[in-house]
Order: sequence, then C-alpha cells, then structure tokens
Amino acid sequence: SGKRAFIAGVADDNGYGWAIAKALAAAGAEILVGTWVPALNIFETSLRRGKFDESRKLPDGSLMEITKVYPLDAVFDSLEDVPEDVKANKRYAGSSKWTVKEVAETVKDDFGSIDILVHSLANGPEVTKPLLETSRSGYLAAVSASSYSFISLLQHFLPIMNPGGASISLTYIASERTIPGYGGGMSSAKAALESDTRVLAFEAGRKGKIRVNTISAGPLGSRAAKAIGFIEKMIEYSYVNAPLQKELLAEEVGNAAAFLVSPLASAITGSTVYVDNGLNTMALAV
Ligand code: NAD
Repeated sequence: SGKRAFIAGVADDNGYGWAIAKALAAAGAEILVGTWVPALNIFETSLRRGKFDESRKLPDGSLMEITKVYPLDAVFDSLEDVPEDVKANKRYAGSSKWTVKEVAETVKDDFGSIDILVHSLANGPEVTKPLLETSRSGYLAAVSASSYSFISLLQHFLPIMNPGGASISLTYIASERTIPGYGGGMSSAKAALESDTRVLAFEAGRKGKIRVNTISAGPLGSRAAKAIGFIEKMIEYSYVNAPLQKELLAEEVGNAAAFLVSPLASAITGSTVYVDNGLNTMALAV
C-alpha cells in the first residue's frame, strides 16, 4: 500500500493487465495505466460510461480507481521514431506524448515517481502463420511489440522508480515448448522476454535496486488471445491435462503479480514464475 503502479497494456476488463491492476488496487496501490493509442477512445469512453463498473469491484466492495490513463504505443521509443503515416493517422493525431520516452516524462511530471512497472502487452501481426512461413518484418514486429517494448519501458521508467520497486511482465510457455499455432515469431518473442528478464534483473538490480520477474501464465480468453484463434482449445486442453482441473482465472494471475511486486517477494528476481494450474509440469496428455 502507498505504492504507485504503472500498468502498460490495459484496454478492456478482460485481460491480465486489468486483473493485475485490480489486485494492486486491492492491495492499496495507486493505479496508472498505459493504453494502446488505437484502443484509447473506446476504453476511456467505456470507463466514463460505467461499462466496467461491475468489474471494477474490489473485494472490500469499493470500485478500483484509475488515477490516469496514458495513451501509449510501446513500439515507438521517442517522437523521432514515429513515421509520417502514423503521425497523420487520425487515431494517433488525436492524442499526443504516447511514445515510451514521452509517457515516462509525463508520469514524472504528474507524479514524480512510481514503485511498480507492469508490462502486459504483446502483438504479433503474423501470429496465425507458422514460424516457417513468417516474414522478416512480421517476426521483427512481434519482437518489437512484445519483447523490446519491455526493455524500452524499463529503460525509460527506471530513473523514476523508487529503490525497492519491482517490475513484472507476462510470458507464455510457447517460448520453451512447441505450441503449434502460436506463430509469427511470438514464441521467439516470449523466449527473448524470458531471457531479458534474467539480464535486466541483474542490470536493474545493480543500477536501481529494482526487481524484474515474469509470469508464465496459462491460457485466458482475452481479446489478444482470441485474435490467435485457438484459445478455446488451449483452455480446454489445460482443463483436461493440468494437475489442477479448474478454470484459470485472470484474478489468480493478478494475485501472483501483486505478490511478486510486493515486499513479500523481496528476494525473488530474474525468475519466470508459472501461474498455469501446473500445466507446465506435464509431459504427457492424459
Ligand atoms: P489483452 O488484449 O488484455 O492485452 C494485450 C494488450 O496489449 C492490449 O490492451 C493491447 O491494446 C496492447 N497492445 C498491443 N500492442 C501495443 C503497443 N504497441 N503498445 C501498447 N499496447 C499495445 O490480452 P492478454 O492476453 O491479457 O495479454 C497480456 C499479456 O499476457 C501479453 O503479454 C500476453 O502475451 C500474455 N499472455 C497471455 C496469455 C493468454 O492466454 N491470454 C497467456 C500467457 C501470456
């Protein structure tokens, strides 16, 4: 409690980012979110009109407050990186200061510092294509949006993170075991994210006393997951084969994230932590 969190990758009330925001709010943190620019309008409108009020409910009955929503596109580090066609795009031209560097500067101007950085975003334009059929640009786009985006966020937010703070990201087991269908370089992007978690834990630990961990989450029917096309099958597979035969709730990932960024996890850094009903431990479908 008394902590301030910036959560990148919240654009509705279905995904892991929203669940993490709720778990942190329930623990008393102040919540700032970064919302992908093309999704910003509908997210803010829905928030304002009360569409999310039911899912804003916290265990004590109060509603989660989001102190501020920042427009963000985590594939651009600074204004100089933004191509003309994106600048001219109506959705992007309607807001400003949404590159990673500018968002970190704005958060600094608004609040001075944060304690918790959450990365809950991914994008792979060719995710439905097998890796063998993935283009160079599709592969690089997946790594840019899903892996480098974390490096960039930590790079720009670290100077305003209070020592003892922590960051967390979300990964998927397709990084280490083959999951046919998780294509377009997304499996590669998650492998990079997990490796970077170890290296960044060392660097951010030494530089700013900041912990860096990632949660390898089981399948959830989020908006992003539905775009991949086989999420219902993965949820069913997990239900049938995991040691714990129950639905995996976003809330359970939210709670694990809240633990990992809290002082209860003060000696845990550089880790990939499975929150998947134990599915990762199985070698044989039964
Ligand atoms: P989600 O749709 O709730 O979250 C993804 C978010 O990323 C969206 O809000 C989207 O707007 C945002 N986004 C995409 N490109 C962006 C960009 N360039 N800049 C800023 N934001 C951008 O879906 P989710 O499944 O909860 O995904 C959150 C994280 O969880 C991702 O890293 C995902 O890979 C991971 N994950 C998901 C599952 C699953 O089954 N859903 C399993 C394991 C890991």
